[in-house]
Amino acid sequence: MYASVVRKVVIPLYDFATGNPTREFMRKLEQSQWFSLEEIRKIQEKRLRSLVKHAYETVPYYHRMFRKNELTLNDVRTIDDLTKLPILKREDIRKGFETRSIISSMYEQKVRKRGFKVTGGSTGEPIRFYTTRENRRWATAARYLGWKWAGFEVGDKFAQVFGLHLDRPMLQSFKGRIEGRLKRRIALDAYQMSETAIEQFVQKIKEFKPKALYGNATSVANLAKYINDKRIESIPLKSVFIDSMSLFDHEVEMIERVFDCDVWWQYHNRENGTFASECSEHNGYHLFSQIFIFEFIQGDEKVSAGETGSIVVTDLTNYAMPFVRYEVGDLGVMSDDSCTCRRGMPLMTKLLGRTMEILVSANGDFIVAPFFGRLEHVFGARDIKQYQIVQETLSRIVVKIVPGITYTDEDTSIVRKAMRSLMGDLEIEVELVNSIAQSRSGKRQVIIRKFPIKFA
Ligand SMILES: [Zn+2]
Repeated sequence: MYASVVRKVVIPLYDFATGNPTREFMRKLEQSQWFSLEEIRKIQEKRLRSLVKHAYETVPYYHRMFRKNELTLNDVRTIDDLTKLPILKREDIRKGFETRSIISSMYEQKVRKRGFKVTGGSTGEPIRFYTTRENRRWATAARYLGWKWAGFEVGDKFAQVFGLHLDRPMLQSFKGRIEGRLKRRIALDAYQMSETAIEQFVQKIKEFKPKALYGNATSVANLAKYINDKRIESIPLKSVFIDSMSLFDHEVEMIERVFDCDVWWQYHNRENGTFASECSEHNGYHLFSQIFIFEFIQGDEKVSAGETGSIVVTDLTNYAMPFVRYEVGDLGVMSDDSCTCRRGMPLMTKLLGRTMEILVSANGDFIVAPFFGRLEHVFGARDIKQYQIVQETLSRIVVKIVPGITYTDEDTSIVRKAMRSLMGDLEIEVELVNSIAQSRSGKRQVIIRKFPIKFA
């Protein structure tokens, strides 16, 4: 009852008061989710032409790219034409932001007043960026639609675990607190995930009875592990949304058991918003292709469906600082299949994780997060409190371990052996430490690779 009042009255009022008519954007996404691939492509190309024209005319960085490659606007009219433009790297964005060359002259005044946003630092070097209100509304609408597929609607109560300081500074502001009340949310700051804080939060969840839990993978897994280890009885929810990757299968199982519901994956980043969400068929991630163009590449070449590629995104709705062919830093696998739910939005069957979280074995294979499941098994059976794997060079790996009381040298040699079976013949050093620093956003960085990945 109250949920529907919030949905029908409070949210529209709130949206109205803050000039945030997300509902309109959501309606458009809801309609177009059933369009055919061909129809969606038409929407994409129409938006692409308009964005590219805008970028050419008002963004020095893109204007230069066009001239450098001897292109005119007529040369970039379709998705296939996009390959004529270079890939946009984080480094290009950082430089372009500093020199203002990647910011649209049409928005320069406006965005300067509103201020920029910063990405979290856990995925490498943070970048600064500008968006428009419209762009944020699309992003919110996509996130909400993904939730709706999982049976959760805006206005329903939910609990959130996030690194508030960095990921969601807004939540702590006054506006954030009011919004939290209206949108009926309780939140735990993952950065302060001490045992007392978790204990209080678990108590709060029990009293608050949210329908869903939302948070980054590691924080949600930590919370579930606490509930499991303390033998607290399960807290049934309708859905758990997880919006980054690198969880082990047994962690997902634990979350599903502890909260007695399915885990729903969403794929998003801070600078562009929600890229994809799972539908109730759990066939993979539906890409929000109405507002993004996705490419999967290796080097300069596009990969075919079923092959692993680095994800490249064109954000069709950010006119303040256009992201055209932005290499996000994640690896994924695109599919040709259509989903049994009959939505036209294409599927990404796998998200292999951040390219940051990939190790390179002795014979050059990429070892991505799911493979570490095997290691986790080995590590889990030892008395290891925490660990972190740092690949310093192609030939040297350091495994940092916070040992428990019963941990012995024998465990070290077992760990070394397990690492070697996964990574091949390279130097493996096991270093026993007192603690492993958590990143400020509350993400546990299990894997660190200190050199860039090269595709063959
Ligand atoms: Zn589907």
